Amino acid sequence: MIFCSLMNTKYVFVTGGVTSSLGKGIISASLAKLLKARGLRVTIQKFDPYINIDPGTLNPYEHGECYVTEDGAETDLDLGHYERFLNVYTSKANNVTTGKIYRTVIDREREGAYLGKTVQIVPHIIDEIKRRMLLLGKSGNYDVVITEIGGTVGDMESHPFIEAVRQLQWELPEEDCLVVHLTLVPYLDAAKELKTKPTQHSVRMLQQDGVNPDIIVCRTEHKLPADVRRKVALFCNVKPGHVIESLDAPSVYMVPLKMQEEGLDRIVLEHFGMKDMPEPDLSRWNEFLDKLFNPKSTVDVALVGKYVELQDAYKSILESFIHAGAANECKVRVHSIHSEYVNESNVNEKLSGMDGILVAPGFGERGIEGKITAIKYAREHNVPFFGICLGMQMCVVEFARDVLGYADAMTTEVVPSTAHPVIDLMEEQKSTTIKGGTMRLGAYECKIEPGTLAYRIYGKDLISERHRHRYEFNNYYLDEMTRAGLVASGKNPETGLVEIVELPSHPFFIGVQFHPELKSTPENPQPVFVAFVKAALEYAARKAETAGKAKADETK
Ligand code: GLN
Repeated sequence: MIFCSLMNTKYVFVTGGVTSSLGKGIISASLAKLLKARGLRVTIQKFDPYINIDPGTLNPYEHGECYVTEDGAETDLDLGHYERFLNVYTSKANNVTTGKIYRTVIDREREGAYLGKTVQIVPHIIDEIKRRMLLLGKSGNYDVVITEIGGTVGDMESHPFIEAVRQLQWELPEEDCLVVHLTLVPYLDAAKELKTKPTQHSVRMLQQDGVNPDIIVCRTEHKLPADVRRKVALFCNVKPGHVIESLDAPSVYMVPLKMQEEGLDRIVLEHFGMKDMPEPDLSRWNEFLDKLFNPKSTVDVALVGKYVELQDAYKSILESFIHAGAANECKVRVHSIHSEYVNESNVNEKLSGMDGILVAPGFGERGIEGKITAIKYAREHNVPFFGICLGMQMCVVEFARDVLGYADAMTTEVVPSTAHPVIDLMEEQKSTTIKGGTMRLGAYECKIEPGTLAYRIYGKDLISERHRHRYEFNNYYLDEMTRAGLVASGKNPETGLVEIVELPSHPFFIGVQFHPELKSTPENPQPVFVAFVKAALEYAARKAETAGKAKADETK
C-alpha cells in the first residue's frame, strides 16, 4: 500500500496495571488483528522482565508453555497468541528479556565498546531496550509495531522498560507513538459497585514514571456505565472516549470483535493520523467464529500429560483443538488426564469413554509409564491416537516392549543404561553441556512417504514443522520395527531422522517428533489435529452405532 510505505512506522506500547493475568497478550493480539485486517503490516513483540535469557529453561509450572518460533527461538507463550491471531510467523526478535538486554550490554562492555565509560542502567541498559523496541520497525517490513511490556506497572523489575517507553514517548513524534494501559475495574459485590481506585492508582504509578497512557482498557466482569468511564478518564487524564471496556468473553477469539465494537482500532488510527484506513476485513475470522459457536456434534478427547493441572502448559495444543474442532464443526471436549496416575489397573476406567487419545510432549521420568500405558490402551482398543514429541517417542517404546518383546526398551533420557535404547540422544547433542537454547529447535523439513496416513493428512510429500527435542528414534531398530508393522512415514530428508511413525493396522495411530500445535491458527487449522478430530468423530459414530445395535438386540 503506497500510503503505508510513505509513513513512519507507528509504535504502540501496551502496559499492564493492578494485577497480572489480565490478558495483555490477547488485547495486543486483538488490536494487531484489527489493524492487519485493515491492510496494515503489523507485528507484535513481547518484552519480559525476567533475567533468564529465554523461557526455554523454565519449568512449565513457572511460565506455562514454551513457544518455539520458525527460526528456533524458545519464547513466551504470548507469541503463540500473536501468531494465532495474526496468522503470520514471529521470530527471535519478537521476544526480548531483561537477560538478553543485560547479556548484550555486558558482552559489549567486555569487547571494550564503551570506551572506558562506567556502564550503567541509565543510559546503557535503557538505550539497549530502546534499540530493541525500535528494531523490528527499522526493518521497513512493518507499518505498526506493538510492544507488550510483561509484568505489572510498579514492579521493581519492569522499571527500565517503562523508562524506555517514557523516553520513546518523548523522542518519537507524538503521532507515531501511543501507550495503551490495561487495568482491572473490580466489582465489589457487597457494595454492588464497580471500583475505579485500583485503576487510578496504577495509572498514577505509570505517570510517576513519566508515562502518560493514551488509552485505558479496563478488564471488567460487568459493563462499564458512562459515569464510570468518565471518572476513569477524568482521574487518569485520558480523553473521555479513550476508556475501553474489556468484558470477559466466551472465547479469546471474540476479543478482536469486542475491541472493534469499543472502537480501539479506530482510536489508535485517529491518534496516528490515519483515520481513512478501510474497515477491517474479518470475513475469514468470522467464518471461524461461526463454526466455533455452532458445533453440530461433540467429541471427547483425552490429553495425557504430566502438567495437566496448569492449562497454560499445553496452551498451543488446547488452541489447536479449538481450531480443529471448528474445522470439523464439532466441539472438542478435552479431558486432562494426569499421566502420573495412569496405570494398568485404572487405564480402562480413565480412557474408555474417550473418542481419541493424545499423549503430550514432555521431559524426564515423571509420568512416563502412564503415557506408555495410555498408548498401549489406544493401540489395542483401536482408539484414534496422536502422540507429540515425547508422546511419539513413547509410541516407539511401547511398540518395542509389547510387539517386539523388549520389556526393558526405553529412551536413554530416562534409562541411560537400557539394553534396548529405541529412543536415543541425537549425535550432535552428545557433546552439549549447556542446557539453554541447545535443543534441536525450530522448523525442519520432513519428507513423507506416499500412500501413508501422514500423506493423506498433509496431501503432499514435503512439509515443514517446528521442533524442540534432544532425543530421536534410534534408526538401529528401524528395520525390525518396520517388519513388525510400525511405519516410519516421515523423515528428515537430510539426516534420515524419523519424524513420523504410524500403524497401518490401526484406524488412526500417528506419532510425530515435531510440534504441529505450534503452527495451528483459526484461519489455518493444523492438518494432523483436523484429521485426528475427524477420526475421533468417526470413532464416536461407530461406538454409537454399536451401542444402538446392542440396545436393539436387547429389546428384540
Ligand atoms: N524429552 C524429549 C526430547 O528431548 C521430548 C521433548 C518434547 O516432548 N518436547 O527429545
